[in-house]
Amino acid sequence: MTRQVAIVGGGLAGLTCAKSLVDAGYRVSIYEGLPFLGGRASTYRDQDGDWIEQGLHLFLGTYSEFKKLMQEIGQFPEEVLFWMSEVRLQDPEGPDAVYGSNPFIAPIKTILGFLGQNDYLGLGDKLSLLPLAAPGLKGMKGLEEYDQMTVHEWWARCGGTQAVLKRFLQPFCRAIQFTEVDEFSAYNFLGWLHHVTYDLPHSLLGGYRGARDELIFAPLGRYLIHHGATIQTGVKLTRIDYDPSSNLVTGFHLDNTRQIQADLYVCALPGWNFAPLIPPPLQSTEFFSRIAKLPTAPAISVQLWFDRRVVDTDDFTLIAHSQLPVYQDQATNAYPTSGGSRISATISPAEQYLSWGDEELVALARDNLSAVEPKIKTARIVKSVVLRHPQHLVKPAPGAMTSRPTQATPVPNLFLAGDWTQQDYFGSQEGAVRSGRACAAAILQSNELNR
Ligand SMILES: Cc1cc2nc3c(=O)[nH]c(=O)nc-3n(C[C@H](O)[C@H](O)[C@H](O)COP(=O)(O)OP(=O)(O)OC[C@H]3O[C@@H](n4cnc5c(N)ncnc54)[C@H](O)[C@@H]3O)c2cc1C
Repeated sequence: MTRQVAIVGGGLAGLTCAKSLVDAGYRVSIYEGLPFLGGRASTYRDQDGDWIEQGLHLFLGTYSEFKKLMQEIGQFPEEVLFWMSEVRLQDPEGPDAVYGSNPFIAPIKTILGFLGQNDYLGLGDKLSLLPLAAPGLKGMKGLEEYDQMTVHEWWARCGGTQAVLKRFLQPFCRAIQFTEVDEFSAYNFLGWLHHVTYDLPHSLLGGYRGARDELIFAPLGRYLIHHGATIQTGVKLTRIDYDPSSNLVTGFHLDNTRQIQADLYVCALPGWNFAPLIPPPLQSTEFFSRIAKLPTAPAISVQLWFDRRVVDTDDFTLIAHSQLPVYQDQATNAYPTSGGSRISATISPAEQYLSWGDEELVALARDNLSAVEPKIKTARIVKSVVLRHPQHLVKPAPGAMTSRPTQATPVPNLFLAGDWTQQDYFGSQEGAVRSGRACAAAILQSNELNR
């Protein structure tokens, strides 16, 4: 008999899991709390008809499973994404640099550019980068030993220079996981390096050619419905019913009003949303109690529309010594209809700014941006959107990365998916896709065992 699976959470993890399960012949129902699919990677239209994104999203060329998923739903990566072979780094207190990011596609720009531009990072700084590359060659398992150490501690141990720490490692860590170098697990950082080192030909930065809703989530939703799944948005999981005597989940309560039942249950929610829903008898068990202890990081996304073009490139740019470590002008490739620049930026670390008002955050973003993009000083902001997310990522604090849970739980019919569960790509779109696939694989395996 076909087995029924209830999946709560319509982000990349839950939808990928659903896709693998409908392909394997399961009956799948998806329940999502927001009115639209996509979760933290979602985009939605505001009252003016403009696309708003939950946050600026960069696509690493090494995201192999996400690219495969796109292909499987007929959304070809070359149509969905555009690629940049450069990384821009800026320091409002000093020089800028543009480094090539791919020695295969742009060998001269990458190698000569790196060796030639010595203002941002001097030759001594560049030589101190060598220890940075070495652990990247280890396998991911071998890197776990670095989870007890911060990036700052690891860098000091390597004898790395302050310039690299302040001008490269700090903005990178702030931008990619919203966390400072002295709270950032070296395992997480070296993991990113590992992925790039092992797949150098794909070491490119990608951006989306439009709204992710149109490019990814709507097509994925259509694929699922076409293959027999049902999707309900705007419904929240409020309780998980659990029977201790059988050690099985017996139902999901939605919106405190109705119970749904299935053979298998998947929570594809962020860990911090799942933790308060853990049934009381399970809360003190080792597996589930660790989930409640996972630290979280907030993020603030600021999107600014200007009356004229204020940035000359659509590259992702990292800013050193800045509360706004990353931005991109999306007016050329992502949302080409807008007249002037349309900048998407992230304020990070965001803890101390969560209580600030929109106007103050827009002013903070403008100040930080105009320090590196002087045209902003004379331009007018015609529209702004600020999104505050008090919890938006499992913080890659030392120890946290190795205590993430597996997708199979000690309850045989309850499974987890999400970028915060065990997989090699930490908190990222690729990590979410991989967790969704791993969750479906765990379900298929448990089905085999129960035959
Ligand atoms: C500001 C920001 C910038 C980012 N930038 C990048 C980037 O540049 N590159 C990159 O690769 N990744 C980036 N990420 C990470 C990426 O967005 C996430 O890793 C990925 O989207 C997580 O997918 P998920 O399915 O695991 O979780 P989510 O997308 O969070 O999906 C979980 C879903 O569960 C729903 N939900 C929660 N509670 C309930 C409930 N009780 N009932 C029903 N539904 C519920 C939520 O609404 C959500 O839709 C960024 C994230 C943020 C926040």
